Amino acid sequence: MLGMVDEIEVESDIEFNWLLSVISQRLVRKLCPQCKSVTHLEIEQINSFDISPDDDIYQANGCPECLQTGFRGPTGIYEVIEIDDSLSTMIHDGGSQSKLEKYCRTRNHSLREDGIRKVLQGETTLDEVLRVTGPRHK
Ligand SMILES: [Zn+2]
Repeated sequence: MLGMVDEIEVESDIEFNWLLSVISQRLVRKLCPQCKSVTHLEIEQINSFDISPDDDIYQANGCPECLQTGFRGPTGIYEVIEIDDSLSTMIHDGGSQSKLEKYCRTRNHSLREDGIRKVLQGETTLDEVLRVTGPRHK
């Protein structure tokens, strides 16, 4: 996500007055409402995500409505990074990607966090979120 910042030509402060936020999006498959069923997180996954073993999450099954895939249509997960004065200054000063990322993580939810929220709402599965967010977006 933040690798993109390098590609934006930074010529003056004026540009950042209109560039207020950067949005990143991934598409995940949406669970079929007809056949999804409640499941719970495996014990060994408990420490990895903000999901408790008591939370109801859903798994895909498959029925004639979804052509046995367990999913019907896509839904988006989002990460919105607001370019505030501090971040703008860091970008102008050529701050490292890890520094920028660290700052953003303290202020914005990540793609994966938004995905986990959708898992808890029963919209998609944990596997779908992990598939599109990968190890870079923890
Ligand atoms: Zn179905």
